[in-house]
Amino acid sequence: MKLTNERVAVCGAGGFIGGHLVQTLLKNGVNVVRAVDVKPLDRWYQKSNDVENLVLDLRDKDNCYKAAEDIQVVFQLAADMGGMGFIENNKALCMLSVLTNTHMLMAAKDRGVERFFFSSSACVYNGDKQKTPDVIPLKEEDAYPALPEDGYGWEKLFSERMCRHFEEDYGLQTRVARYHNVYGTFGTYDGGREKAPAAICRKVIQAKASGNHQIEIWGDGSQTRSFMYVDDCTYGTQAILESDIHEPLNLGSSELVTINQLVDVVEEIAGVELKRNYKLDAPKGVNGRNSDNTKILEYLGWEPSIRLKDGMTKTYEWIESRMLIPAAK
Ligand code: NAD
Repeated sequence: MKLTNERVAVCGAGGFIGGHLVQTLLKNGVNVVRAVDVKPLDRWYQKSNDVENLVLDLRDKDNCYKAAEDIQVVFQLAADMGGMGFIENNKALCMLSVLTNTHMLMAAKDRGVERFFFSSSACVYNGDKQKTPDVIPLKEEDAYPALPEDGYGWEKLFSERMCRHFEEDYGLQTRVARYHNVYGTFGTYDGGREKAPAAICRKVIQAKASGNHQIEIWGDGSQTRSFMYVDDCTYGTQAILESDIHEPLNLGSSELVTINQLVDVVEEIAGVELKRNYKLDAPKGVNGRNSDNTKILEYLGWEPSIRLKDGMTKTYEWIESRMLIPAAK
């Protein structure tokens, strides 16, 4: 399928990835007709006047039927989530996103939606495979036997499974991507839901501006991750939706770095060197995680490739512009 005139809705469009996805799809000539989020419009990171922007709580079933009315393709990104600090302390809240996923799938089925995209996460992977920083990249089959991240990961794994059975039992075409640590402009960088790349940018900017050249790092800094710039994420999301791949697919960068190396990158961008204080009892997630991109390469002949330094430069500059010009906040 190549998206052309299909009527498309993006759920979670007021958020970081959803906001970028609407912009990317519109730029690619896709017929996005509706953007939905629970947040008041003035708190959406990005908004397009060319689409119908609806403020709806998608945990509510009736609202999901409104969101899916006269729609052929749904991108379902709405979820209560954040970085490790948020998901480790809000497990029940994260699991309540199951209401959104359940009701959106039911509405999509009953409204005759043709294709349904679900944004899953690398947090579905078995924790036993992520115990050391020198990781073997995670393959799609490593999600089973199941031992996902408590709360958030269990909800994602369950909802992936629902997508599979809605396709098998009801014929709703579903596509699932497992996003690995997405970062970029127009996203959260403070308030408690921010993830490591944005949090580190904010801390470096604050240290530089205040002259107090120190930074607090969660964990001992040796934990490893890969980080995908949001442009790769939105490109891959559209490609997976358009593909014939019925199984969950990794969508992540395979450029592995330690958190210390991520801080090195940001320090270099900022032109400062900071004293590092390690907060060993802070939430830090698994010790190591990387994306095995064999399958996406095989299926799409493509994998995320934006270099960390390039993506982080754009992210840093955007966060700095927001923090240093209060009127822009
Ligand atoms: P985000 O928090 O910026 O966006 C999610 C949006 O969903 C928010 O704007 C929020 O208001 C909205 N939402 C939450 N509950 C809702 C509800 N009941 N009804 C309607 N809207 C609701 O997060 P994001 O980083 O853009 O993530 C988008 C999706 O990708 C999420 O499903 C997330 O779990 C998944 N994901 C993200 C990452 C990442 O690194 N950012 C990694 C893996 C998976």
